[in-house]
Amino acid sequence: MVGADARTTERIPGFCALCTSRCGAIVVVEDGRLVRLEPDPSHPTGRALCVKGRVAPELVYHPDRILHPLKRTRSKSSRDPGWEQIGWDEALDESIGRNRCWGTPSTSSRL
Ligand code: SF4
Repeated sequence: MVGADARTTERIPGFCALCTSRCGAIVVVEDGRLVRLEPDPSHPTGRALCVKGRVAPELVYHPDRILHPLKRTRSKSSRDPGWEQIGWDEALDESIGRNRCWGTPSTSSRL
């Protein structure tokens, strides 16, 4: 019999994505919520996790985490950047427009 306070715990093999090392990790999820990363010794880079990887749940659920695109409305020299929330479509359009100077993939591959 399963009690009312029974928790479901999943242990999902994966990796930490907080830096380019991509350390192998077991992602522990309780009732659908990330609770911790553990080292995955079966992974070539999973023998240990640094402190940043260990606090991953705090980063994911921090109340100040930015969950939507922001656009600077004042110059970079301004003390207040004037961040303004924008939609994902506008953010993608802005990014594409700024990166056009990099050229098309066929052009850049010849450089
Ligand atoms: S555990 Fe640390 S070193 Fe490994 S990927 Fe995460 S942040 Fe990078």
